[in-house]
This record gives sequence, C-alpha cells and structure tokens, in this order.
Amino acid sequence: MSRRLHIDPIACTGHGLCADLLPEAVELDEWGYPMLRTDAIGPGLLRHARRAVNACPTLALRLSKTTDQPSSAAQVRG
Ligand code: SF4
Repeated sequence: MSRRLHIDPIACTGHGLCADLLPEAVELDEWGYPMLRTDAIGPGLLRHARRAVNACPTLALRLSKTTDQPSSAAQVRG
C-alpha cells in the first residue's frame, strides 16, 4: 500500500518547509507556494514525508493511505 500526499490550499501559508524537507515530491512556485511533483509516496520516501508533515506549521500537509493510482501533479496557491 502506498501513501498519498495532500496539501490543504486554505491552510497553507507558503512557509516552504515541505519543499526543503521533501524536495523529491514538493517544489515551490514563483510565489513560494508548494506544488506537488507527485502525490505518490512510496516506502523509500515515507520517513521523509512524515517528517515534512510533522514540520508543517499550519497542518496543511498530510498523508493518506491509498491503493489506487496517484494523479501526476497538483498545484496549490493561497
Ligand atoms: S504545506 Fe505547510 S510546510 Fe508546506 S508551504 Fe504550506 S504551510 Fe509551509
């Protein structure tokens, strides 16, 4: 079972910690808001993803369990 990464665009204030801690899955747009390179988090990235989720100061970043195919990308602006 893989995990899926989600960003709540309302809660996100663009601190950018997630992109620092999980650059494999998150990059920042030109305004400093996160864009998901991928929302699929495999076993090799799970520890880093959990660290990024725990570091998010606004609880905007979260992980969920999934068994289906991930979408390719998503963008958040707030
Ligand atoms: S999701 Fe959290 S850590 Fe990432 S930019 Fe938004 S507020 Fe910052």
